[in-house]
Amino acid sequence: MFDGYLDDLCPECLLDEVNSRLLLNDSDFYECPKCNLQISFREYPIATVLNFRGKGKIRTEKKSISDEDFGAGLAPMDPNSKNFLSSSKLFEDKNSFKEYISKISNK
Ligand SMILES: [Zn+2]
Repeated sequence: MFDGYLDDLCPECLLDEVNSRLLLNDSDFYECPKCNLQISFREYPIATVLNFRGKGKIRTEKKSISDEDFGAGLAPMDPNSKNFLSSSKLFEDKNSFKEYISKISNK
């Protein structure tokens, strides 16, 4: 269930009740192998949802988010940020998250 906080599962896939584990990719973002949603931990404990999808280049060691790092707040990426940073405002609810991901550019 989407609650605005991240564990190790893709929040987009969770909307469809699919459990897909996020894995570190070669850009050091966590990426969903199913939908390629990317999440940055550069501002942890904010989990910034990038506004472009990954290319599926998951690291071979398949590193997922450790349970010590669960609970980061999901936030949209600031479109003006050159460093993939958020505007520090978390998604208010499931609908604001849905609207944001509907505009994410594809690969
Ligand atoms: Zn996904």
